[in-house]
Amino acid sequence: MICPIGIKVNIFTDSQATIDAFHNFQQLSFPFTSRQWSKICSNSNLWITLFTLLSDNEIDLTLTKVKAHANNFYNEEADKLASNAHLSRDFLVINDAFNPCLDYVPQWNNITIERRPRKFLTDISWNRGFESFFNLFRNHKYRSNNIHWSSTFAYVNGDSDTCVTNFVSSQKKAHRIKFMTEELPTIEHMKKRRYDLYKDSKCPLCRYCSENFVHVFTCTKSINKIRFIQTKAIKHIMDLLYQHANIKVDITYFSSIPHIWDIDHRNTDTLNFIDIIKGFVPQILFSKILDKAKHNEMTSLIISNFLDFIYTNICEMVWNFRCNAQIELEKQAGITNRMKKLKNSSNNRRPNIDINCDAFNSTLANNSLGVVNKVVYGGSWLDFINWVNQVLYL
Ligand SMILES: [Zn+2]
Repeated sequence: MICPIGIKVNIFTDSQATIDAFHNFQQLSFPFTSRQWSKICSNSNLWITLFTLLSDNEIDLTLTKVKAHANNFYNEEADKLASNAHLSRDFLVINDAFNPCLDYVPQWNNITIERRPRKFLTDISWNRGFESFFNLFRNHKYRSNNIHWSSTFAYVNGDSDTCVTNFVSSQKKAHRIKFMTEELPTIEHMKKRRYDLYKDSKCPLCRYCSENFVHVFTCTKSINKIRFIQTKAIKHIMDLLYQHANIKVDITYFSSIPHIWDIDHRNTDTLNFIDIIKGFVPQILFSKILDKAKHNEMTSLIISNFLDFIYTNICEMVWNFRCNAQIELEKQAGITNRMKKLKNSSNNRRPNIDINCDAFNSTLANNSLGVVNKVVYGGSWLDFINWVNQVLYL
């Protein structure tokens, strides 16, 4: 657009959002303060460039709303030009290397930050945390399987509002994370810390097997309870689907999904019910519910509710029951809470088990690729991981 200095310009647009944002900024005096700049939600570099042009050339700009797709000749033409330009490789590079509001241009990895810096930093820190979690040796299985990550995190964050954290919800969240990371204080887990106290201990229920995380759910003394909870949980999804979307499905609609209801003690590479107990949401389960509910947020809500149902029942019927049995055994063996809190000061330590972790290390999540993709392509940084899963699945 070329126009002489000091004139009035009227631009017709069908974007009410742009007009509203423009009016908001117009009320402020330019250059904006750094605080005002940091409140610009998105495209801050474009807004600053526009206001710099208007101010330097003393242009009086008015934006006028026109109805979209209403056979307005110029609006249709502008639309056509915009959609052609969208795919064109021939584009105008806006020189935004100067920011009069800040005297510097905020960048991250040589990319100009165009969004609210606070929000951007939150995304980066989430992404970093996620990448280290994703790269954990014990999670190698989830890197090559289709997990619906955003609803998995929605569940872990639970019913607590993201802005308000109360004691009960953060305690619940910490416990759910112990499920997700297999950090429950099972006998095998306790051996890592207090081999001197637990070296001869076995599962407190069957008294026969070594008790690791998976054994808690596959122990002969617990497996029937797990099956019972599983059947109740499937019926619970059906009820939720009926309550929220008014849709009735047959039980086989869910029970026929392959593998995800298996309760398997062997380390299989497919997602099974143990993974659901841990809080991971299989993509296939999400899609099945979405197919009926036709609504992403509702699907997420149903899944959260379903996982919470499993978690609560497992805690009540299986884990707490097991813990009571263990407390009884410790009493008999004369192990007190005070003794458990002390460090292992003897030479009686757990032999090291050598596992080749390198074989499972991932090169897919590193260097904040999630954020880079969000900056370049938009959407959520988690979309990148979903995309990786899709590619690996094919
Ligand atoms: Zn057992």
